[in-house]
Amino acid sequence: MSEVAEELSFTQNIHKMDTDERTRFRAYLFIKQLGICPICKQKMELSKVGMKRAGKNFASFEHILDDWASQYNEKSGDLSNIAVSCVKCNNERGIIRNRIARKFYAHAAKKKGLDIHSANVQSTRLFKLFGPVPAGLFPSEEWRT
Ligand SMILES: [Zn+2]
Repeated sequence: MSEVAEELSFTQNIHKMDTDERTRFRAYLFIKQLGICPICKQKMELSKVGMKRAGKNFASFEHILDDWASQYNEKSGDLSNIAVSCVKCNNERGIIRNRIARKFYAHAAKKKGLDIHSANVQSTRLFKLFGPVPAGLFPSEEWRT
């Protein structure tokens, strides 16, 4: 947890924030990241005023470590695990990581001789059977360092 965020007295878990606090925390991260998506380095949008839903450049909350690689199979809401990235990158990253995780579990199931179609099984079930996806299987993400 950063000292600045502590000074601004945010609730220490994003999943426990109400809408107003999430908006305030989003603005805080946006300013801290100079409005730049850490993944594609493009300018993000903070406001979705006048839009029915967030545009592809909207600054969306990104869980740096997601449930696939977490040892607890959960998306940690700890503020140190949260960044903002544009909706487009956030979605693409999720799809890529999902594909890698499903492939890992398909392989793990085959090794154990289990007939599981990992694409159709809930992540919680896969996690119970095989544990977390080794973080090293995911592509290195320079923006996280
Ligand atoms: Zn981006």
